[in-house]
Amino acid sequence: MGNLSAKLQDIYDEVLTRNPGETEFHQAVNEVLESLGPVVAKHPEYADSAVIRRLCEPERQIIFRVPWVDDAGTVQINRGFRVEFNSALGPYKGGLRFHPSVYLGIIKFLGFEQIFKNSLTGMPIGGGKGGSDFDPKGRSDGEVMRFCQAFMTELYRHIGEYTDVPAGDIGVGGREIGYLFGQYKRITNRYESGVLTGKGLTWGGSQVRTEATGYGTVFFTQEALRARDSSFDGKRVVVSGSGNVATYAIEKVHELGGTVVACSDSSGFVVDDKGIDLELLKEVKQVRRARLADYVELRGNGSSHAEDGRLWEVPCDIALPCATQNELDEADAHTLARNGCVVVAEGANMPCTPEAARALTEAGVIFAPGKAANAGGVATSALEMQQNASRDSWTFEHTEERLAEIMRGIHDRCLETAEEYGSPGSYVAGANIAGFTRVADAMLSLGVI
Ligand code: NDP
Repeated sequence: MGNLSAKLQDIYDEVLTRNPGETEFHQAVNEVLESLGPVVAKHPEYADSAVIRRLCEPERQIIFRVPWVDDAGTVQINRGFRVEFNSALGPYKGGLRFHPSVYLGIIKFLGFEQIFKNSLTGMPIGGGKGGSDFDPKGRSDGEVMRFCQAFMTELYRHIGEYTDVPAGDIGVGGREIGYLFGQYKRITNRYESGVLTGKGLTWGGSQVRTEATGYGTVFFTQEALRARDSSFDGKRVVVSGSGNVATYAIEKVHELGGTVVACSDSSGFVVDDKGIDLELLKEVKQVRRARLADYVELRGNGSSHAEDGRLWEVPCDIALPCATQNELDEADAHTLARNGCVVVAEGANMPCTPEAARALTEAGVIFAPGKAANAGGVATSALEMQQNASRDSWTFEHTEERLAEIMRGIHDRCLETAEEYGSPGSYVAGANIAGFTRVADAMLSLGVI
C-alpha cells in the first residue's frame, strides 16, 4: 500500500486491527487515506475531531439469516447484509449485491466508497450498501422471488424513505427490485415509493435510471476527453462485463461515435471488430440470461469468443472496466498503456487494483476512478427519489440532461479540487478530497454522534 502520513497511518492501522480479513475494505480505505494528506495538513480539525476515524466505522452493520425454499422443496439458507455507513448528508443510499462472493468485507468496501461518491454528486444522500451471498444464476423466477421476499422480510424493518434507500447492483436488477418492493409494500401496508430506487417505470421508477450508470460513465469520459480537445468519435473502446453498467456504456459510446470492439462476462470475452451488436447482446444476456459464447453463435460474422486470456489485451483507445472489483491488474495496465490506450474510466466499483491505477497514471493514461465516473447511477436514483417525493415523473430527455449536467459538475469539481490541493489533473485526488470535505464538514456541524 502507498505512503501515508503518521496520523493517517495510525488511522489505517486501527482499521486493519478492527476489521481483520476484510481485504477489499482495507483497500478502499487506504485508497481514500492516500489522498487526504494535504487535506489534513491544511485542516487539522478533521484529524483532531476524529472525523476520519469515525468515517471508517459504519454507523450500523446488520447481518441476518435468509431462509427460503427452492423449487425442489429444500430449505436454503443465505446470509443477508446491510451496512449503514454514514448518514451525515442524508438517508443511507446504495445498492444491494447478490453474488456468491459477497461477505461483510465486500459490503463494507462498497459502502465506504458510496459515502464519498454520494457526497461528490452534491445531492442529499448518505452512504450504505447491502446484499447477500445468494447466487441468482441458474435459479428459476419463482426461486428468485421467494429469495427476495425472504430477504425483505428482515430488511424492511431497517429501511425507509427517510432512513435507508437501497437499489440494485450486481445480480439485482429490475426484476429483483420488483419482488423486493412488492414484499415491502405487503409487510408494511404502505405504498412508500421512495424506499427503493431502480423501480419499474409503471410503478414509481425514473426514466434513465436503468441506463444511468453506464451513460454517466461515458458522459464523464466524454468530459475528460473534451478537456483535452478530444472526443469518442472514431475511438476503439473495450468494455468489461455485459450486465447493466456495461450494456448502457456500450449504447452511449456507440451514440457518441465510438466503437466498442469487446466485452465480457464471468465465462470469457467476445471480440467483435465491427462493433458489439447491442440488440443481440441484450437478447443473450437480459432476455435469455445466457452465456456470452451464445452471442458469437448467433452473430455469425467473424466475431470470436475466448474463455481464457485477458480482455485488456484487445487493443483500444479507451477502456471502461464495468464488471467487478480488482478485474484489471498492474500487468493489464501496462498492456493497455503499451497498446496506446489514453483513458481508463471505472464503470464498476474499484475494478482497477491500486497497482494498476498507479501504473496507468505513471504511464500518462487518464484514470477516472469509479467514485466519480460511475456516480451517475446513484445520482439518478436521487432524481428518482425527488420524483417520488413530488409525485411527479420526468421525460427521458429531461432526466438524461440532468444526468449529463451532474456528470459535468462532478468532472469539473474533481479537477478544481485536485488543482486546489496540489495534484493538478488527478481525478483520484479530486474525487476523494471533494467527496471527503463535503461529508466531513457535515459531520463537524452535527457534533460527535
Ligand atoms: P450486473 O450483475 O448487471 O453485471 C455484472 C457483469 O459483470 C456481468 O456481465 C457479470 O458476468 C460480470 N461479473 C460479475 N462478477 C464477475 C466476476 N467475479 N468475474 C467476472 N465477471 C464478473 O451488475 P452491474 O452492471 O449493475 O454492476 C457492475 C459493476 O458496476 C459493479 O462493480 C457494481 O458495483 C458497479 N456499479 C453498479 C451500479 C448500478 O447502478 N448497477 C452503480 C455504480 C456502480 P455474468 O453475467 O457472467 O455474471
